[in-house]
Amino acid sequence: MNDMKKITINLPGGVTETLPSGVSVQQAIASLDESLIKSAVAARVDGKLVDINHGLAADASVEPILITSKEGLEILRHSISHIMAQAVKDLFPSVKVTIGPSIEDGFYYDFDYEGTFTTEDLVKIEKRMAEIVAEDKPFMCRMLPMEEAISFFEEQGENYKVELLRDLPEDVSEVSLYSQGNFVDLCRGPHIPSTGLARAFKLLSVAGAYWRGDERNTQLQRIYGTGFPTKEELDHHLMVIEEAKKRDHRKLGRELDLFQVNDEVGPGLIIFHPKGALLRSIIEDWERKEHLKRGYGIVMGPQILKGDLWKKSGHFDHYRENMYYTDVDEQLYGIKPMNCLSHMLIYKSKIRSYRDLPIRYFELGTVHRHEKTGVLHGLMRVRQFTQDDAHILCTPDQLNDEIKAIVGFVDDAMNIFGFEYEVELSTRPDKSIGSDEEWDLATTALKKVLDDTGLEHEINEGDGAFYGPKIDFKLKDALGRKWQCATIQCDFTLPDRFDLSYVGPDGEKHRPVMLHRVILGAIERFMGVLIEHYAGAFPLWLSPVQALIVTVTDRHIPYGEKVLRELIEAGVRAEGDFRNEKLGYKIREGQLQKIPYMLVIGDREVESRTLAPRQRDGKTLDPLSVDSFILLVSEKSRNYQ
Ligand SMILES: [Zn+2]
Ligand SMILES: [Zn+2]
Repeated sequence: MNDMKKITINLPGGVTETLPSGVSVQQAIASLDESLIKSAVAARVDGKLVDINHGLAADASVEPILITSKEGLEILRHSISHIMAQAVKDLFPSVKVTIGPSIEDGFYYDFDYEGTFTTEDLVKIEKRMAEIVAEDKPFMCRMLPMEEAISFFEEQGENYKVELLRDLPEDVSEVSLYSQGNFVDLCRGPHIPSTGLARAFKLLSVAGAYWRGDERNTQLQRIYGTGFPTKEELDHHLMVIEEAKKRDHRKLGRELDLFQVNDEVGPGLIIFHPKGALLRSIIEDWERKEHLKRGYGIVMGPQILKGDLWKKSGHFDHYRENMYYTDVDEQLYGIKPMNCLSHMLIYKSKIRSYRDLPIRYFELGTVHRHEKTGVLHGLMRVRQFTQDDAHILCTPDQLNDEIKAIVGFVDDAMNIFGFEYEVELSTRPDKSIGSDEEWDLATTALKKVLDDTGLEHEINEGDGAFYGPKIDFKLKDALGRKWQCATIQCDFTLPDRFDLSYVGPDGEKHRPVMLHRVILGAIERFMGVLIEHYAGAFPLWLSPVQALIVTVTDRHIPYGEKVLRELIEAGVRAEGDFRNEKLGYKIREGQLQKIPYMLVIGDREVESRTLAPRQRDGKTLDPLSVDSFILLVSEKSRNYQ
């Protein structure tokens, strides 16, 4: 009887098919387009992710998940982690399996193993994985009553799986087990249809990890790997990893003598050396100039503010675990994790009229946030950092123009520093303050600017700040990696909590809206990104040292010193290498320091009173006077070259 039953399947593009009940997702998708059979690795049925061979018993809407999509790639990578687990069990039968999720750029699987996996082990595991892929075994899903699943894994000695099962909510009566060949794993799925689809993968590294991320638990061995739909994509990714290692800002930071992170000081705290601090000053000078040009007032607030103020702002309730505290005269103070509060108090210091708005406060605001030690990373993830932070207070009518101006500011900045970027809109998170109405208004305002300006953007549901939605800008570096830079957050709540007001044309008090925004974000991280983007070879305008004067012999020193003085007086960031070393040696050192121009001073230069600048790329310019060289440098710097 059941065979006769027909069901209605809604497919993408408004296509509706009437198909026999029990038809597989794959068959339903094939009725839309035969070619999808090859490219779809899973599907979304009524919003739920399922395997491609999942049977359809009732009316449903079905959307194929292609291997080329973000979700498809995650399913592929997660499936490869199962294949890796199978290979590890085949080669190391005493190992106990735990979990193996896909992560950004790849996957991992954690194993309980008494030994340590070596590089040679990884090669062996990869080889066994290739065999499993060649066998092209289907991923089979089987539902099992909870008790049976528990006894199954107990018999296998897989106590981590048993623990996971026992921790499931009581109303879960059955669970899904997946097998490929003779390897069985507990998993929610979905997976790729068969192991043969895992054509391009690579195991990358081994690290220690605690069961459930808790250091009181057993230490496990985590194997990281990655996978792609094609070999070409995998090769490109591996090339990027190699290149990223060469450009690692921590390595270049040491070689170029820019900064240090010192255990004696503490993790996540940066000490900038003269050249690093100079680079930072150049960026900060640029910031101040650009903000003044755009009608911002430069302000400065204190590092520590009374605890009561943080209670009032909501930070105490919503941001407490990320903050540091201190006691002053037996009173609790919070070290600022954000710069907003002082800015609001400046606004509040006077009665404001609608004619005063918008008011824009800018601060190179140093903040402290408690990040877990494990996530700290060079300049990219630190505990003390300086934001190019601003708060704009305006009327609701001015919101659109203000957001547009910020979007334009970000665009200018990205062009100047040489980055492309992407835009994302993040909406209300679970933990938030403010009314539905305010959230709607704020989200609509941000969305409208993105629509008006025609900026393509993705939407991140639930990723907003606790006080408002935000637009995030992600810049793309030379290796195609994305980094968070600018954000614009729209906030109706803090002006309310701090009772900010302005007198409107009607003579009544009104509530202003506040925009929180950064352009480059944390200066520290931005510097890290710059170092890796340019591989340390900064454009002239950013280079801490723009020109290095190198003398051939001692008799050239007086002219060298004269040139150095003239350059420095004219604002060129120059240094001299007058040591009694071989010329080739001094030039090589200058090259390693990636200095844009080297000025070799020999007999010819002294006699003709000229310079023959040698560029970083090895090209030598025609001889020119010191004044012409100064002009060249200032011209290029002005044009952000
Ligand atoms: Zn799985
Ligand atoms: Zn703020």
